[in-house]
Amino acid sequence: MTPPGQHQGSARIPVQDAADTDWQQAQADVITDPGELLGLLGLDTADLPAALRAAADFPLRVPRAYAARMQPGDAQDPLLRQVLTSPEELAPTPGYDTDPLAEAAHTPVPGILHKYHGRVLLVVTGACAVHCRYCFRRHFPYQSHLPTAARLDEALSWLNEHTEIEEVILSGGDPFSLSDRRLLDLLARLATIPHLRRLRIHSRLPVVIPGRITPALVAALGDARWQSVLVLHANHAHELTPGLAAEVRALQQLGVTVLNQAVLLRGVNDTLPAQEALSLALFQHGILPYYLHQLDRVAGAAHFSVSDDQARALHRALRHRLPGYLVPRLVREVAGDLSKTPL
Ligand SMILES: *Cc1c(COP(=O)(O)O)cnc(C)c1O
Ligand code: SF4
Repeated sequence: MTPPGQHQGSARIPVQDAADTDWQQAQADVITDPGELLGLLGLDTADLPAALRAAADFPLRVPRAYAARMQPGDAQDPLLRQVLTSPEELAPTPGYDTDPLAEAAHTPVPGILHKYHGRVLLVVTGACAVHCRYCFRRHFPYQSHLPTAARLDEALSWLNEHTEIEEVILSGGDPFSLSDRRLLDLLARLATIPHLRRLRIHSRLPVVIPGRITPALVAALGDARWQSVLVLHANHAHELTPGLAAEVRALQQLGVTVLNQAVLLRGVNDTLPAQEALSLALFQHGILPYYLHQLDRVAGAAHFSVSDDQARALHRALRHRLPGYLVPRLVREVAGDLSKTPL
């Protein structure tokens, strides 16, 4: 039988290497029901009705591979707290907005965010492997930025014309949620723009699903055409795996710089032991801490916020414990500023 919409002869079976399909299977194998996640971890379901209501707004999405690293029976598990929908999300909090960074004002063409000198974000997808409850883009109007073929053409021709842009930063969503095929195609198109010197990718996916950094991806990022930087998003030492360390090593052998940015989250990593363990674990995995972000004030995430005073005290204590290269820069994003703003 031929599936609807496909015709024999015209249907081409895409050729993918096994490594590419493994992570795609892991990405598709997700928990979307808060009750199932709680049940899996043997946790109390008293808050389930509110958790379900919160999920209606921004769905719960947790790959099983990530849930497997949570501690059963621990309702405060730092990985669980990042992804479990909670009643606290429903409480409206003054000062917490749906577009906290006023990004709408910095889009010369759909898909491009241009705020800082010499570098732009290119939004290549709205999809993510995991839904983080603190996400500042949880209300982002992806539908009006999604990279349809026509929008991507427009964004690339904008980049072509703007010779002052030296660095393009793939963002989303999570750029690594695209298949290698689409990603490599995009990189090949970017590579034709002569003034682009640096390629940066921000991604949380390799942290959530080890195996994402396939050999094809390593080769593309390591291409001498670019100076490439991969900025991973890990918030807790428990998120790092030996598989990730091996992938990072492969990238570094080709000269790719690998950094990490974290968000300071109440109940996840707002203690000195948690921050110290994160920096040390990152270094053991070959990754240097780059930024520690104060939470963006996005509606639904207020319960993760840490006061500026507490953030500064934590950062000072971290400086007193670790070598300077293991201390991330403590910053926040202030709409209208010309860089991230040190606290
Ligand atoms: C955060 C961000 C960047 C990158 O800033 P760096 O300080 O270079 O890491 C670039 N463009 C936009 C719009 C950003 O939000
Ligand atoms: S991976 Fe990043 S963009 Fe995606 S939900 Fe998490 S914080 Fe948001």
